Parts: sequence; structure tokens; C-alpha cells
Amino acid sequence: MRTSISLRTLLGAGCLAGLLLASLAAGASAADQSKKDQEPPVIDPGPAGGPPSDAVVLFDGKDMSKFRGERSPEPKWKLENGVMETTPHGGLLSKEEFADCQVHVEWASPSVVKGEGQGRGNSGVYLMGRYEIQILDSYKNPTYYNGQCGAFYGHNAPLVNACRKPGEWQTYDIIFHAPKQLPGGKVEPGSFTVLQNGVLIQDHIPVGGAPTTAAPLGGMAAKGPLYLQDHGNPVRFRSVWVRPL
Ligand code: MG
Repeated sequence: MRTSISLRTLLGAGCLAGLLLASLAAGASAADQSKKDQEPPVIDPGPAGGPPSDAVVLFDGKDMSKFRGERSPEPKWKLENGVMETTPHGGLLSKEEFADCQVHVEWASPSVVKGEGQGRGNSGVYLMGRYEIQILDSYKNPTYYNGQCGAFYGHNAPLVNACRKPGEWQTYDIIFHAPKQLPGGKVEPGSFTVLQNGVLIQDHIPVGGAPTTAAPLGGMAAKGPLYLQDHGNPVRFRSVWVRPL
């Protein structure tokens, strides 16, 4: 008899535990669902090309105060008529740091063509100061494929060459997910998706932990600055903004 009661008690406790687990699971999925059902935040997308109202504007033609110089506290690039231009004093690093983000950059290589291959209109947009989407005048200017304009430098050639003519303004719209250091030394790859002049050139390609060759920052980090490269060629920029994701 005692055994039977005890079994009944156990069965009852089991049922209660089961019910509790089921209700917890239902609660969790209800919470997930209610998150999905929340109204998305309203933003003002602004004019075509942005910046939207929730963007961190790094450069809008007025000043370079959101950046520091690669080799000096103050940026030493030229600023004229709402446009900043590289000088041989090193690149610019944003003071604010980012991880996963959407980036918009407008840039132009020189209208007077000088040099060839990697020596023509070379600059770059480095996410977290480490992972470079190459800027290059690749208009009728062959070079190695994973080093041409729009390449994830040294890794992945662009899907197409969507370059405008030298001197013309071009856009990069980049969606970046940062690689993450996992316990035990493993790396969870991040990703790059890139549009150049509205054309898809990188389609969710993996970003490992190793920084691009000659990146200003090494190793891995949780966040890092946006870096605009000086590669010894005059390249102009007129709009740079970031939306942390
Ligand atoms: Mg470069």
C-alpha cells in the first residue's frame, strides 16, 4: 500500500513537473513571439542614400571631428567644399567603435588617372579597423581579382565589376556582421554583404577572425573603429554613416 501511495505521489510530482516545464516553455515561446510581434521602431529614412534618423553620421561634409588620425590625434586629410581627401599622413579611424552594422560610404577616385593596378585610386573601408572592402579605381584597370575594387581584400573578389568612371562619385552600402571569439579559441565567422552603386557585389560571404593584411588593428575584438585607408593615392569622401545593428 505504502509503495502504491508513494508511486502515486511520484506520478503526481512528475505530472506537476511536466506541467511546470510545459508552462515555462509556453511562457518562453510567448515571450519570443511577443518580441516578434512588437511594432518595429519608426525612423525617418531621410533622402535617397540617407542618412536615416537612427544613423551615426561620421562625415557629412562639415568637419572631421568624428575621426582621429592614424598617426596623429587630429585627422590630417584635406577638407574642401564638403569633401575630405586622403593625404599621405595615414588613414582615419572613427572615434566611435562598432561591431555588427550597416555602413554607407560615398567616395571617388581621382578624375585624372595616374598609376595602374593597385596604385590607382587605392583606399579602403575597414570594418572594426580590420576587415577591408577595397576601394580602387578598377575602371579598365586590371589587377588580381581579390584585390580589385569591391573585393574583401585578399579573400573574395566582387561578384561583378560595378565601377563608375574615374572621378565619378560611387557608393558602398555594407552590411557587416563581426566574427566572434568563442570560448576555447574557436571563431564564429561574421559576414559581409556589399552593394556598390546599388549593385550587389558581395553576397553574405564569411569573415574569419584574421585581419586583412596591413590592417591598422590586429587580433580580434568585440568592437572596433571604422577605418578609411590612406594608400598614397588621393581618394575623396563626402558621406559616411553607420547604423549599429
Ligand atoms: Mg586598399
